[in-house]
Amino acid sequence: MLLSPRAQARPYRSGTRRTRSTRSRGLASALLASAVSVCLVAAGAPPTPLGVGDRLFPHLGNPGYDVASYDLALTYSGSNTEPLQAVTTIDGWTTDTLERINLDFAHGDVQSVQVDGETADFATAGEDLVITPADPLPRGDWMRVTVRHTSDPVSAKGRDGGWVRTADGLAMANQADAAHLVFPCNDHPSDKAMFTVRVTAPNGYTAVANGLPTDVDRAGRATTWTYRTLHPMATELAQVSIGRSAVLHREGPHGLPVRDVVPAKDREALEPWLKKTPDQIAWMESKVGPYPFETYGVLVADTVTGFELETQTLSLFEKGLFTEPAYPKWYVESIMVHELAHQWFGNSVSPRTWSDLWLNEGHATWYEALYAQEKKDDRTLEARMKAAYGASDRWRTAGGPPGAPKPPAPGQKIGIFRANVYDGAALVLFALREEIGVEAFDRLERTWLTDHRDGTAGTADFVRLAGQVSGRDLGSFFQHWLYDEKTPPMPGHPEWKPVAPAVKAPE
Ligand SMILES: [Zn+2]
Repeated sequence: MLLSPRAQARPYRSGTRRTRSTRSRGLASALLASAVSVCLVAAGAPPTPLGVGDRLFPHLGNPGYDVASYDLALTYSGSNTEPLQAVTTIDGWTTDTLERINLDFAHGDVQSVQVDGETADFATAGEDLVITPADPLPRGDWMRVTVRHTSDPVSAKGRDGGWVRTADGLAMANQADAAHLVFPCNDHPSDKAMFTVRVTAPNGYTAVANGLPTDVDRAGRATTWTYRTLHPMATELAQVSIGRSAVLHREGPHGLPVRDVVPAKDREALEPWLKKTPDQIAWMESKVGPYPFETYGVLVADTVTGFELETQTLSLFEKGLFTEPAYPKWYVESIMVHELAHQWFGNSVSPRTWSDLWLNEGHATWYEALYAQEKKDDRTLEARMKAAYGASDRWRTAGGPPGAPKPPAPGQKIGIFRANVYDGAALVLFALREEIGVEAFDRLERTWLTDHRDGTAGTADFVRLAGQVSGRDLGSFFQHWLYDEKTPPMPGHPEWKPVAPAVKAPE
């Protein structure tokens, strides 16, 4: 989402919020003119969960509005089993006439809802909070929705994600479909917005969120910490850390503020890893161009998640990645670079749908592997890609081809994050580089990031740009590489073949 074009698209001349009475007059004429035909729901229909039609997560997101900003105010009691008290305020534009506003929200109690300051009715339908304002909202209107609710850090049965409980507090892991387990939102990466996060916690805790701090307010036994993003962000990338944390500051390239958040007691042990970040940022900038955000840093959580996550400006890592002696150094560093690379691929440029996930993970895996090759000379990208080629057909069978991943299986933690969109998708990028050459490939990567910075883009956009940059029609190339059941022959390496899996010894 880019704020300025939307402002240009405003159908009203005034730059200020309109009052209820002008809204009602505007609505009356709109209703007369259109005979209510543009209303999304008929009055009196039962509340229904809606989505934006994502092939993999049909219930995510909601039609009819575009969020401009979220303001999350969270109050943490110091207990990881007690729900937080929360107020979520959403400012946005209606893109249709709305008799109801659907938000995604599925794991907390809603106490009250206001629309433009007036009390609104609400009901739950599926994983949606369905709000009925006193008056319908006309198309093109500025709206403010305020929801008072709780936010439960204890996972619902069989449903991980959202809050992550750590040894000393909480962190957040919303990808792909769990932000709405924490706060009411339009939970789809196609609707990016600005975020302000305010966390009130007992003194002794430190709270950090995406973006930069704007205020710390100590009052009695509690402190309120406020953070604001300078760039739009998808809900899946929100991060709020509350803990007995040390916040470490250092300088990155061009004076970029680098801020790490770690358990205070582990600060010294983690420093050898944390100090690598500025050089990693410089390395990424040498490959793809300027770092896209206002700050970066590593959030180390004392818990077992089984994943790391590229939450915007503050990537989440489980402590075990840095303390497990069995992991080689090059491996740990390359995982750090993977999450860092997502700040460009996946965060600055967000996927239009979750089927575009290969663009996130394929690129992050690509730079992860390239870093390992350049920094550790015995790990070549080509060897890794040859091994990926050997396994690619099996990955496609298990998870679908990279451009059309299979939906997440119910109850399976891994969701859509399968090998087909990691090394399987990096393999597509390798094939592309073999096909169009290193120079065109590098230009494509940089152009992609500048063309879509702070925006949303999908597979068709990437295919089109690759064609423009290379001066070639790559439609058939991508059709086979992204959507075929079997992996196409590798350009320049006709000798690469699928490899049968090693026969497992009987257990
Ligand atoms: Zn990743």
